[in-house]
Amino acid sequence: MPDKYGDGPSAIVVGGGPAGLTAAISLAGAGLATVLVGKRPARPDNRTTALFAGSVTALETLGVWELCAAQASPLKIMRIVDDTGRLWRAPEVKFAADEIGLVAFGYNIENFHLVAALEQRAGALADLRLIDDEVRSVAPHDDAVTVTLKSGATLSAPLLIAADGRRSLCRAAAGIAVDERDYSQVALTVCLKHTHPHHDSSTEFHTPSGPFTLVPLPGLRSSLVWVLDPAHADGIKALTDIELAAEIERASHSIVGKITVEPGRGVFPLSVATARRFGARRIALVGEAAHVIPPIGAQGLNLGLRDAASIGELAVATQRDGGDIGGDAVLDAYEKMRRADVSSRTLAIDLLNRTLLTDFLPMQGMRGLGLYMIDRIGPLRRAVMREGVAPAAAEPRLMRGEAL
Ligand SMILES: Cc1cc2nc3c(=O)[nH]c(=O)nc-3n(C[C@H](O)[C@H](O)[C@H](O)COP(=O)(O)OP(=O)(O)OC[C@H]3O[C@@H](n4cnc5c(N)ncnc54)[C@H](O)[C@@H]3O)c2cc1C
Repeated sequence: MPDKYGDGPSAIVVGGGPAGLTAAISLAGAGLATVLVGKRPARPDNRTTALFAGSVTALETLGVWELCAAQASPLKIMRIVDDTGRLWRAPEVKFAADEIGLVAFGYNIENFHLVAALEQRAGALADLRLIDDEVRSVAPHDDAVTVTLKSGATLSAPLLIAADGRRSLCRAAAGIAVDERDYSQVALTVCLKHTHPHHDSSTEFHTPSGPFTLVPLPGLRSSLVWVLDPAHADGIKALTDIELAAEIERASHSIVGKITVEPGRGVFPLSVATARRFGARRIALVGEAAHVIPPIGAQGLNLGLRDAASIGELAVATQRDGGDIGGDAVLDAYEKMRRADVSSRTLAIDLLNRTLLTDFLPMQGMRGLGLYMIDRIGPLRRAVMREGVAPAAAEPRLMRGEAL
């Protein structure tokens, strides 16, 4: 049997987080010889991800979802509650998935279950070689990109997919600049047990420091993402589990009853960052290497999975046509496929976050009016719901359930 890697792989993926694993599985699942090089993250990831319907369909199509579906909770209702206590408060807005013909907007799953399922699927693919190592340098050439690993080994391929996160070494090697801004906010993440059922609902309380969002997990459990100003976060971090549970119960107005905090808290400084191009010099950026947005409206990894599905689709089609899978034509097409989706969501989330933080009354009024209109105007309401879970522009094929 010929060795698929005899002439080197078709693609190298750098980064074994959820975006990188998905990109690697989409290429190798379609028969492209692929190498994924990933170093283990420094800390365990206790976050959860709300995956919208298109992301779940893509994971189903890639043979991943069946490996983790039992650990995910459906997200059937999404509520937004204005808890700013300000003069111009918005009405409560409640979206139900069945209003737009869906059983659920998506599913919420702990990141370690999702990554374990992706790793299991990746490990079963004959055309995917997994290397547990760190990429130390990346050198783009005219016809290939060469990476050097910590072990000293080198690898070359015509296409490199950079999924190495927000401080991407590969992005720097591609010479791509980033527009970036820090918010003076942090997100505290923790999983909770509670005494009342969540009824498959997520609830986003809008507070003056940012959203406080409870998202359902299977059984009597939920995950919390609590956006705070850094001084408040320091105080919250110092609390014992019992004190923290009491704070959360108060902030959540006891909607899920008595709370017990599970071990493992995460604290994430919030920022927004967008790469000026999503590909250059045979390097395509996916996931947080391409864009970082604050955890409001659960958009970050859903965008990252659409990146992975898009570059997978373009690379597979180009390889089948005998073209250059890392060439400018593929990178230009990738840029076109992804830019509007990423820019529009980054803008919307940034705007929503700023209207929460501002003390400027007209801005607060705008947010209230916007939410009021969304609540009351049926077609607008459904359009917002559809756009929240999937872009109006063409989705990549995997998101439509079509294998590559
Ligand atoms: C509090 C919070 C809640 C969130 N909730 C949601 C949500 O509900 N829904 C949603 O869609 N998104 C959510 N997000 C966003 C989501 O978590 C991110 O988009 C996602 O984790 C990014 O995945 P990634 O694979 O791009 O990057 P990462 O998970 O950062 O993976 C990058 C990987 O690359 C590896 N790496 C880095 N450098 C190298 C190197 N030189 N060599 C080899 N490997 C390397 C790292 O070790 C890491 O494993 C949330 C984010 C936060 C902060």
